[in-house]
Amino acid sequence: MAERRILLVDRNVAESADLTRQLAPFGYHVDKCLNVGEAGERISETTPAVLLVRVDHDLESDGNSTIEAVTSLADEIGEMPPTVFLADDFDLKTRLESVRVGAKAFFVRPFSPIDLVDALDILTMPREDEPFRVMIIDDDKRLLELFSTVLMHAGMEVEALNEPLRVLEALSDFRPELILLDQYMPDVEGRELAAVIRQETAFLSIPIVFLSAETNQDVQLELMKIGADEFLTKPISPERLVTAVSIRAERFRHLRSQMLRDSLTGLLNHTTTKEHLNIEISRMRRSDKNLAFVLIDLDHFKSVNDTYGHPIGDQVLKTMSNLLKQRIRMTDLIGRYGGEEFAIGLPDISVEDAVTVIDKMREAFAEVTHYAGEREFNVTMSCGIAMFPDYDDVPAITEAADQALYEAKHKGRNQIVLAAPS
Ligand code: GH3
Ligand code: MG
Ligand code: MG
Repeated sequence: MAERRILLVDRNVAESADLTRQLAPFGYHVDKCLNVGEAGERISETTPAVLLVRVDHDLESDGNSTIEAVTSLADEIGEMPPTVFLADDFDLKTRLESVRVGAKAFFVRPFSPIDLVDALDILTMPREDEPFRVMIIDDDKRLLELFSTVLMHAGMEVEALNEPLRVLEALSDFRPELILLDQYMPDVEGRELAAVIRQETAFLSIPIVFLSAETNQDVQLELMKIGADEFLTKPISPERLVTAVSIRAERFRHLRSQMLRDSLTGLLNHTTTKEHLNIEISRMRRSDKNLAFVLIDLDHFKSVNDTYGHPIGDQVLKTMSNLLKQRIRMTDLIGRYGGEEFAIGLPDISVEDAVTVIDKMREAFAEVTHYAGEREFNVTMSCGIAMFPDYDDVPAITEAADQALYEAKHKGRNQIVLAAPS
């Protein structure tokens, strides 16, 4: 895991040591300096991914407040790393000033370390925004080309379909996030095609936007009734086309992600985890590679809830999921398998490496300090690992990992067990 460097400006040595410890399990290395004055040089030395500045009521040596000092630092060095402020108390004036110097986040003590980690993750992890996939269906080749060019220019992936009767096949192959549909075509009307698309459950929710020269509002209304999401009148300006398409594609993507993901952790839900596992196993089978499937269950989690309350339990679950996302970069297959159970699929990995990676993660999680007000505690986890092709389909591999997990619990928890095929 690549370490990300944070530069922390904090006069309070004990507290900055504390924060350093809390961030370490999430892959953050914290460099420290005592005042903003020192930060300039350190930024050029260490090129931190984020600058964390503790705002207190003490003034810098030149008599400036912390935020004033950050402002002059920014003027001095030009390109500042994204900056996050940590304040001891809420003060609107400071907060406004922080916005003016371009702060990305502002935390007031006491804040939960997990929220800070979330903010750091957003600032440091490259967002993999995949381009929107848009299908355009029009019999007019010239218009198809024009619209495609406009959308591709805006960074979208476009499939232009000139033969409307091939639509279902093309939809399955391309899986668009939005369909732009011409209303009048020689072989088939757009409305008929839309009705056919809506008959397929897999395509029921894909936004359909009609493109037409039709200006009669009654006709437009009829089209909306059969499930069109919007009606764009030709000719249309490139800006309006791009805006109309992106807004709807974005919403579709968001809704879809809500259906596939667990809301607390943002990880794949149980059903989707199994679906993805199935896809990964097929992929590994085709390329003759291994896959490790891992089931993780937190130890004595009921007592965490009983002792510290359900919300603190939730915070532990979120910490666990962050740790997984951080440590297991080589896969997208990370799911919340049950309440306090998680599942990971590691494609193209040897048994030895899988065991090493998972055991290191077990150790890292056990070292994370969780906070419930003033109280601190640790939680451990048990893991069951099963390999493909030792177990060669979803039911077999999940069953084997579950058995191994059971054994890890039985042997005393806080350990991993590898399923041994008989
Ligand atoms: P073991 O070491 O055997 O796994 O013991 P355990 O206490 O973790 O196992 P058990 O299955 O008895 O309890 C699981 C607990 O997880 C019970 C349930 O309240 C808690 N839990 C499940 N989902 C959530 C959740 O979303 N939030 C919180 N806070 N707790 C949850
Ligand atoms: Mg359980
Ligand atoms: Mg448990």
